[in-house]
Amino acid sequence: KRKLSLDTNALTSAILKGDITALSRAITLIESKNLKHLAQANDIITACLPHANKSVRIGITGVPGVGKSTFIEAFGAYLTEHGKRVAVLAIDPSSSVTKGSILGDKTRMERLVKNENAFIRPSASGESLGGVARKTRETITLCEAAGFDVILIETVGVGQSETTVHSMVDFFLLLKLAGAGDELQGIKRGIIEMADAIAINKAEEDNLKQAKLARDEFKRALHLYPEKASQWQPRVTLCSALEETGIDTIWNLIQEYLEKTKANKYFDKKRQEQNKFWLLQTIEDQLKASFFNRPEIKKALKTQLELIEANKTTPFAAADLLLGLGKATD
Ligand code: GDP
Repeated sequence: KRKLSLDTNALTSAILKGDITALSRAITLIESKNLKHLAQANDIITACLPHANKSVRIGITGVPGVGKSTFIEAFGAYLTEHGKRVAVLAIDPSSSVTKGSILGDKTRMERLVKNENAFIRPSASGESLGGVARKTRETITLCEAAGFDVILIETVGVGQSETTVHSMVDFFLLLKLAGAGDELQGIKRGIIEMADAIAINKAEEDNLKQAKLARDEFKRALHLYPEKASQWQPRVTLCSALEETGIDTIWNLIQEYLEKTKANKYFDKKRQEQNKFWLLQTIEDQLKASFFNRPEIKKALKTQLELIEANKTTPFAAADLLLGLGKATD
């Protein structure tokens, strides 16, 4: 019987030694639906926590086709050549449907997959963005404990996923393409506000002139925003993920960002704020789940929804009744 039980201590020490197999196994526990696995995952995360935190977490977003995978290949190669160990994670709440074909798909990062200083983990599949996000947060901790010092978190510009990634990274990079002018049209204002840098990708050859125009337009636009709490003025830069140009500029400006925000203490403050946010978020998620998953609530909710449809109750009366039922059976 002993042999069957998983030794979380052994797994933790293996992770701390940088053992990738152990890291993958622990992430699988995080992603499991089995309560015993989740308890084991919690033990490992708690043990890893003091060894995490010595990294830089970078969020990368942009519409499909902008070149995220190609960029991460180039950026990842650059970073490992400069002595870094790079973990690539993804947040793609739709991946359970698309089977991970959008993001973090290993076949799209062929070179990085073979790189022994890189670790690529496709997006956890999940019921909800909140669920995927929690798993990714925990995975970050394990990757950091395993000695990965740059964590790249990729997401596609759909729904709330950028906001979620923003809430778990130190630096947020937006990839853009140069279009035919009017660069600022059709971008969600919130994304620009979140960006610490905008990189216009595919800035090469025939594209270069337009890319430069786009860069200038973004620069002008960014100057109109109020100063960020980080006191960092977001940058706009050009790159070609395919030709691997402009990659060093992006890494250098991230270094500059880190220097500035560590000196003015924003870096630590932001991580603290993120931790507080995630504490509250986790409580909210778990309270909701434990409420809605109760059989008696499910049944009563169905009845109340029908009554609402028939105009026989109000939303508030129905909510009071359901919440009361939740309390009564606590
Ligand atoms: P993603 O959907 O954002 O991950 O985009 P991909 O990395 O899959 O790239 C989409 C397409 O754009 C692919 O055909 C890439 O080869 C191409 N691509 C990516 N980066 C560049 C670049 O810098 N220049 C050019 N010309 N093509 C690129």
